[in-house]
Parts: sequence; structure tokens; C-alpha cells
Amino acid sequence: MKVSVVQGILSANDQLAAQNRDQLDQLGICVVNVMASPGSGKTSLILRTLDQLAGRMRVAVIEGDIASTVDADKVATRGVPVVQINTGGQCHLDAPMLRNALAQLPLDQLDLIFVENVGNLICPVDFRLGEDVNVVIASVPEGDDKPYKYPGIFLAVDAVVINKVDLLPYVHFDVAAFRRLVTGMNPGLQILEVSCETGQGIAEWVAWIVEQREKRRRP
Ligand code: MG
Ligand code: ZN
Repeated sequence: MKVSVVQGILSANDQLAAQNRDQLDQLGICVVNVMASPGSGKTSLILRTLDQLAGRMRVAVIEGDIASTVDADKVATRGVPVVQINTGGQCHLDAPMLRNALAQLPLDQLDLIFVENVGNLICPVDFRLGEDVNVVIASVPEGDDKPYKYPGIFLAVDAVVINKVDLLPYVHFDVAAFRRLVTGMNPGLQILEVSCETGQGIAEWVAWIVEQREKRRRP
């Protein structure tokens, strides 16, 4: 009984996600859903990306948090359209929330939207938003065992960004073993190594994002 109720909720969400997707497709907008645990560098990666894409692509950001506008305030300093979603306790974004956020953006003037999901590795992946690209950040201080503990998210994403690689000399994180593990789980996956602190690897990440946007651009 319980299972069928949950499935009912998911399919209602999926229906609205499909509507979001149709709307975004018609406008030719690529949406990147950024997921990760708190403190792994979601906002920092988005800020770095905005700096690289300034003048090249029209970007907006949707910030999801349980409370506060701290991240949206940081993004606003970059001069791009930003909408903060406060989930009021809910630990993931969903398609209705994205729909409300999209209504507050100048969609006819955008190429790309980054969505910063609520910080956790569990449920965000179960709720489609209408996004094109799913990304998870794994930061070096969190350890290299996250794919064992949270396989669902690593199976579902298009890319894993290993962040804070500048800390590799100081903490245990076996990059080669991590790469083997996630590639074994999800063979088509893109793996990028970056440091939002030093800027290492950011150009490669941004090139990958631009490629995703070009691949998904509709006439
Ligand atoms: Mg953040
Ligand atoms: Zn949740």
C-alpha cells in the first residue's frame, strides 16, 4: 500500500517535470541540476562557472535551500538573474518548485540555468525537475567512499565533479580508486577534477558544460 502511494506522488512530480522540460525545450534552455552534500562546493562551483561564462552565455541560477538567501545573495553579486527557493524543511527540490522559480526568470533571455539542489546525497536524485543534465559534486575532504554509501546518485548523474583537489596532499582520497569505482557503476559518466579555491580544472568543467548546452540546443 505504502509503495503505491509513493509511486503516485513521484508520477505526479514526473508529469510536471515533463511539462517543465517541454517549456524549456521550446525556449532552447539547458538546465543543469547540481547535487551534493552540504559544504562540498555547489555554490562555489556555480560562482566559478558564472565568471567563466560571463559574456559568452546567458545564465541564470535557481538556489534551493531549506532556509536563508545566503547562496542567492552570493550569486546576485555576479549580476545574473537568481531565484531563491526556500523549501521550508523539505530536503530536495521538486518539479512544482522549479516551475514556480522558472516563472520568476526572464526565460526568453536565457541559454542555461543552474539549479543548486538542497544539500544531501539521498533524495534529490529521486525527484525530476525538468532538467537536462545531472551533476554530483564529491569533495575530497568527504572521503572517497561516498559511491558505496549513496549509489543511487552516482548511478543517475551525467557527471561527477571531484572538488577541492587542492586538499589532496592533506586528506585521504584515492582519486584513481574513486574513478574506477564510479566508472564501474556508471560507465558513460564524465569525471572532472576541480578546485574552486585555486581554479584548477574549472576551464575543463566549463568546456564540458558548454558542450552539454550545444548538444541539447534546439532550433
Ligand atoms: Mg550552497
Ligand atoms: Zn528529500
